Parts: sequence; structure tokens; C-alpha cells
Amino acid sequence: MTMEILLALGSNLGNRRVILESAWQEIGNLPEIKTLRISRFYETQPVGGPINQPEFLNAVGIIITTLPPRRLLEKLQEIENRFGRVRTEHWGPRTLDIDILLYGNEVILTPTLTIPHPEMLHRRFVLEPAAEIAADTVHPITGQTIREHLHRIK
Ligand code: AMP
Repeated sequence: MTMEILLALGSNLGNRRVILESAWQEIGNLPEIKTLRISRFYETQPVGGPINQPEFLNAVGIIITTLPPRRLLEKLQEIENRFGRVRTEHWGPRTLDIDILLYGNEVILTPTLTIPHPEMLHRRFVLEPAAEIAADTVHPITGQTIREHLHRIK
């Protein structure tokens, strides 16, 4: 069965727009993944982390895949690594960050994979692009739509 999945993409180093566009293309080039739609790119002030790091460019995309969640995470991490993400400091600048926000209605709570992504409901830079392409999608734990969550943090 194929589930609809929401991914968050972010970059704050290098040519951020080209990085996000190419990453989205690479995701779609994987044989097990079909990319359906990506939001516009949103400029965002970094949250937390070292001061004076560059602004982020963020987007949210919808995919379908036959990959189970952990395999999907591995494939996405391979793409992150190909873009030269260097994990120097936690919350520090990164060339490319890809998070799995939602994987259909699945709820997964493990030390290395948490779905729905625990921060997604508190982050405008996630909810805003998500609402652009998936406003009526329901969060499997809260039972509320992305639109409702976005209005709540406004
Ligand atoms: P960070 O460096 O803050 O982007 O964290 C990356 C780590 O978060 C990865 O090694 C994953 O194991 C873990 N992780 C947990 N849940 C998720 C998720 N829903 N999407 C992406 N990474 C996740």
C-alpha cells in the first residue's frame, strides 16, 4: 500500500534554492518514491543554535512511496549526505536537512525515528508551507488539520 507522506526540506548554506530544487529532484529519482507536490520556498529566521547563522529556506513536499519509514529515512539521509551536510554543531548551519513530518496515519516513537515529527506543530516554517499543499491533512495524534494547527500558532 502507498501512503501519503509529508517531508520538510531546509537549507541555510550555499545556494539554498538550487539545493532544495535538486534535492527534491533526487528524491523523485528514487525508484521507490513518487514526488507529488512541493510548496513554495519560505525564508525563515533560524530558531535556536548559534547566533548570526544565515536565514533558512524551507519547503514542504508530498510524496508517495513503497518504502517503510526507516528505509525512507535512510534514503533521505543518503541524499542529505550527498549534499555535503556536515553535522558539526546541533542546530547549526546545514546544507540540507530533510525531515519526515507525517507518514500517512502512522505513529512511530523510537529513539532514532519519531513520526509525526515532534516539532512540526510548533514551527511556523513547517506549518505554513505544509498548509499550502496539505491544509486538510489530519495530524494522527491531535486529530486536527494542518490548517487548524497553523491558525493556532498565529
Ligand atoms: P537533526 O540533526 O536535528 O536533523 O536530527 C537528525 C536525526 O533525527 C536523524 O539521525 C534521525 O534519526 C532523527 N529523527 C527522528 N525522527 C525523525 C524524523 N521524523 N525525520 C527525520 N529525522 C528524524
